Amino acid sequence: MNSSIPFGKPNLSEEELLGVSKVLNSGILVHGEYTKKFEEAFAIRANVKNAVSVSSCTAGLHLSLFVNNIGPGDRVAVPAMTHVSTAHVIELQRATPVFIDVKKETGNMDPELLSDEIKKGPLKAIMPVHYLGLACEMDEINNLAKESNAIVIEDCALSLDGTYKGTKTGALGDCGCFSFYPVKHMTTIEGGIVTTNNDDLAKKIRKARAFGYNKELGARSRAGLYDVDKLGFNYRMNEVEAMVGLVQIKKLDNSLKIRERNYQIINSYLDRCEEIYIFPNEINHSKSSYYCLNIVFKNSKNNYRDKLQDFLKQLNIGTSIHYPSAVPLFSYYKKKYNYKVEDFPVSNFIGNNTLSIPLAKHITEDDANKIGNSIYNFLKGKRS
Ligand SMILES: *Cc1c(COP(=O)(O)O)cnc(C)c1O
Repeated sequence: MNSSIPFGKPNLSEEELLGVSKVLNSGILVHGEYTKKFEEAFAIRANVKNAVSVSSCTAGLHLSLFVNNIGPGDRVAVPAMTHVSTAHVIELQRATPVFIDVKKETGNMDPELLSDEIKKGPLKAIMPVHYLGLACEMDEINNLAKESNAIVIEDCALSLDGTYKGTKTGALGDCGCFSFYPVKHMTTIEGGIVTTNNDDLAKKIRKARAFGYNKELGARSRAGLYDVDKLGFNYRMNEVEAMVGLVQIKKLDNSLKIRERNYQIINSYLDRCEEIYIFPNEINHSKSSYYCLNIVFKNSKNNYRDKLQDFLKQLNIGTSIHYPSAVPLFSYYKKKYNYKVEDFPVSNFIGNNTLSIPLAKHITEDDANKIGNSIYNFLKGKRS
């Protein structure tokens, strides 16, 4: 009987449970001390001045556009290969997504294509996504942003601890948005955080995540008394989530080490497999955060991606796909903007030919060897 290896599994233990029951017993479920403590701890870890906790990465991305007044008529660049979240927030603001195809070797936004789009018309914002944890070419992107007077909002949902020229993602643009969804590097159940070195931007995001109140709960001169001078959302993180996050931060160094170890083990089986390539964990100035290991089949003809996924499933090895389609080719976008497959050849290729292999803390050394060996055997079988 094979024990089952899921793609993702949150790294939870007794400590989160004890923390959560402490919060529930306290009766203070929002506006409490733990969201503040979590923000402080995360800001230190990410090496940024401000970290503003929010209810999800999507909420953080949306707030980042909202407080910068990105709206109808504004063009916002986003990679064609990303989670749909990054593009949806542009649509929610009634702005115009400008999809940029990605590079075949990394899956990251191609700065040359970005430059071409700027020649067609100015951009108000650029949203680089550090695809699967590998930092984008930020010097090129920031220079183009300056040229166009655009703000830069990093999508760091999968890039916790990824770096560019030694600086962690989340401190490379105007602001960065992280996700704490259960199977990301760390979890708060649902949740996210916006990092920024810009105090004014942090202040605006704090206000807009809580209805546009002019005073936070602790700052009111009389209980219940406040004014509302801005529009806003209810995008706060709650105390239970923040408590889980505080415990999770302590475990990060160890769990990131295990991800890297698992990457090295699995990768060692795949070195001489000519029919595939793997997105690099390090290239030029960028380093990855080892979210997962990605196998890319060079030739899409035989549908080997799906076959490998089925093969591993029979061995009870879970995998995932990031992402199943180029975002502009999802029905909503395709219908609305009339995109064609040929408009985004690389993103379309990656969506159809890439399989994500798990690396997280629940993968033991034995599991990693089993996974690497199984993939190697699958590929060998296809050769003979
Ligand atoms: C998971 C993910 C998101 C969405 O994060 P939520 O916290 O679930 O809103 C956005 N962008 C990328 C690249 C992601 O992987």
